[in-house]
Amino acid sequence: MGLISVVLSSQVTYYLFMLKRLIAFLSILSLSISLPLIPASAAAKAGAKCTKAGSIEVVQGKKYTCVKSRNRLAWNKGVKVETTTSQSVQSASYANMKKSMLPKPVGNLFRYHYSPNAVVGFKEKIESELNYSMGYWTSVYDGTELFNVFYATEKDIDWLINAWKTYDLDKNGFTANEYKGRLEREGAQLNAGSVPSQEGRSHLSFFRSSTRPIQPDAMIPHENVHIVQQQLTKNRTSQMPCWLREGSANLFANFQISEKYGPSVYDDAKRADMNSYQSGSVEIRKFNDSQWFTHLKSLEGNFSGGCDYKNRFAYGTGLLLSEVLMADGGFEKMMDFWRAFSLEVDWRQSFKNIYGVELDTWYKTKAVPYLMQEYARVKRY
Ligand SMILES: [Zn+2]
Repeated sequence: MGLISVVLSSQVTYYLFMLKRLIAFLSILSLSISLPLIPASAAAKAGAKCTKAGSIEVVQGKKYTCVKSRNRLAWNKGVKVETTTSQSVQSASYANMKKSMLPKPVGNLFRYHYSPNAVVGFKEKIESELNYSMGYWTSVYDGTELFNVFYATEKDIDWLINAWKTYDLDKNGFTANEYKGRLEREGAQLNAGSVPSQEGRSHLSFFRSSTRPIQPDAMIPHENVHIVQQQLTKNRTSQMPCWLREGSANLFANFQISEKYGPSVYDDAKRADMNSYQSGSVEIRKFNDSQWFTHLKSLEGNFSGGCDYKNRFAYGTGLLLSEVLMADGGFEKMMDFWRAFSLEVDWRQSFKNIYGVELDTWYKTKAVPYLMQEYARVKRY
């Protein structure tokens, strides 16, 4: 009887949660219908007027260059963009990770702090998955201090805030506020984890409902990537564009769980990441080339709310961009790119130095065609 009532009440909570989400989604939907579409700049077309010689636009798989002819600037006739097939980008990316990230056993790199009501099963999950994930990073992770990990349940928010204080963490109270908001919104579904981007040393914290079932997922490997990013950027992940910070975290996490649970897991995780934007107000599957470009520029910021956490645009878009970088440049270049954030160099310049192409040109010729291809191929929910 006890079991049935627990199952029922968690089902009811779950339905209420989904209903709330649906209501939120519908209210956003009705809002978006009344809004005009983002105006797209006039699309490049062979022979049509353009404004800057040498500029490039990709429209429907063709790359147009603005050239001067007969004393006027016009788009040339365009060339078909060489897109490798989507599957080959994904599999080349995967193969490059597999080649360069050889798992090795590691000693303990963490100092764990558990709240009074911490659930034993989740403690075990944290420790075993962090050790598993860190095994993939032995060639680059050179942290020598133990990294602080906190785990508290919904009953222990005050404990968590005090535990941070002991280490002088979350001085501005930002993470505490974020977690309180998450508890309010998510209730029994609460499952927050983060490595806040902040100056100085960071921490990994979990704030999680004690009644939420423990399931296999990519969350801990994902957060572990942020720990490695913090180390390689010398605590400057706050300088990373959102698409890179979250997208590469998804890329490596999905790789690691697929190595653990089997190759089909990668496709499932990728589909989930690509569709995590769906509760928001924008349908990115309807974007044309120039809307995608504008969207990518908007993901160059690093938002205070945990990289656009609510709309989650950076997570799927960033995963696809990271796949392209991993497929074309491999593991070492991505590590160089991460490390470059520790320098006083504009990251767009670092991108060009490392990948040999202007960022905006890469967006238009590589990233956007792949985004459009993958969002057309991978189904929504
Ligand atoms: Zn993240």
